[in-house]
Amino acid sequence: MDREDIKALLAAEGAQMELLLKRALEVKLREMDSYVHLRGLIELGNVCEKNCLYCGLRRGNARVKRYCLTDDEVLSCARLAHELGYGSVAIQAGERTDAGFIARIERLIREIKKFDGGSLGITLSLGEQSEDTYRRWFDAGAHRYLLRIESSDEELYRKIHPGDSKHSFSRRVSCLESLLKTGYLTGTGVMVGLPFQTLDHLAGDLLFFKQMDVAMVGLGPYIPHPDTPLYRFKDLIPGAKERMDMTLKMIAVLRLMMPRINMVAATANQTIDPEGREKAIRAGANVIMPNLTPGEYRESYFIYPNKACVKDSPGQCRTCLDLRLAAIGHKIQYNAWGDPPAHITKL
Ligand code: SAM
Ligand code: SF4
Repeated sequence: MDREDIKALLAAEGAQMELLLKRALEVKLREMDSYVHLRGLIELGNVCEKNCLYCGLRRGNARVKRYCLTDDEVLSCARLAHELGYGSVAIQAGERTDAGFIARIERLIREIKKFDGGSLGITLSLGEQSEDTYRRWFDAGAHRYLLRIESSDEELYRKIHPGDSKHSFSRRVSCLESLLKTGYLTGTGVMVGLPFQTLDHLAGDLLFFKQMDVAMVGLGPYIPHPDTPLYRFKDLIPGAKERMDMTLKMIAVLRLMMPRINMVAATANQTIDPEGREKAIRAGANVIMPNLTPGEYRESYFIYPNKACVKDSPGQCRTCLDLRLAAIGHKIQYNAWGDPPAHITKL
C-alpha cells in the first residue's frame, strides 16, 4: 500500500469502514490468533523532566501532585501481576534521566526477574534515555520498550512540543534506533486526532512504523487536558466519535500492513468510548494493559482527564476483562509473555 491507498482507507466511512475493520479482524485471526495478551501496568511515578505540550504530567504543570512508588510498592505490583497470571508487566513513568533513577530501575528489573525463575516479561516505557541506559536495563532483563514517536511528521512534532533541544524530533528517532539496535522488542505509536493533524500525517505515521519494522504499536486518541498549552487548540480537533473511529481505522490498516505485530488497545480508547477497548481489539489490536498501580496514586497519574478504570481493583479488572473479551469471541492468554510470532524472544 502506498500513501494514497492508505489515505483512501483512512477516509472510509459507514459500510466501507465496517468492511475495513472486518477484514483486519480476519487477518489478525489468521496471522495471530484470538488471544489477547496482558501487560500489568505499573505507573511508577509522575515526575517528569519534559514539557510536552499535550500531557498533564509535563514539568510545567504545577497542579499535579507528584509521586513516586517505593521499591516495595513496585515489587508488590509485580507480584500481583504474577499471581493474577498476567505474564508480563509494563513499567511506565514520566521521563527522568538522573543517575539515581537509572540505577533504581536497573535494580528493580533484576528483583522482578528473580520471581519464579524470571517468568514475568518486562516492558519499559520510560522515555528517552542514552543508549548506555537502554543497554543496562536490557541486560538487567527488560526485553520490550515502548516509545511513541507521537507524530512521525517533524513539523507536527514541533508544534506539539517545546522548541528546545530536550524535545528534538531527531533525538526521538535516534532513541528508537538505539532501542532496536540494543535488541528490545521495540514499540512506538502516535496520538490520533491532534490539532493540526491531517490524513496525510496519519498515513505517514503508518508508513513510518512499517519502515522502522517495529514489533509493537500503540495507537490511541488524543484527549485534551485543560492544564496543558495544547488545550487552547481544542476546537481544532475532531469530536470524540471521529477520533475513536480514526483510531480504529489506523489500527485496522496497520493490521493489514503489518499482520504479525502486537498492537495495544490503549486505555485512552476506553476513556472516550466505554467499549473503546473491545472495539480496538475487534479492529486488530491484541494487547491490553490493565492497571496495577496502587489506588491512592492512580488519580495523580493524570495524563489526560477522565481516565478509564481508575477506581477498579486489579481483581475486578481481571474479571471484567475476561467477560468483556469473551463477549467478543476473544480470550486472554494467561501466564505467557505474549511476544508477536515473528519476534519470539529467547532470553
Ligand atoms: N514519559 C514516557 C513517554 O513520554 O514516552 C511514558 C509516559 S507518557 C505519559 C505515555 C504516553 O501518554 C505518551 O507517549 C503519549 O502518547 C500519551 N499521552 C500524553 N498525553 C496525552 C493526551 N493528552 N492524550 C492522549 N495520550 C496522551
Ligand atoms: Fe513527560 Fe511522557 Fe508526558 Fe512528555 S508524554 S510530559 S515525557 S510523561
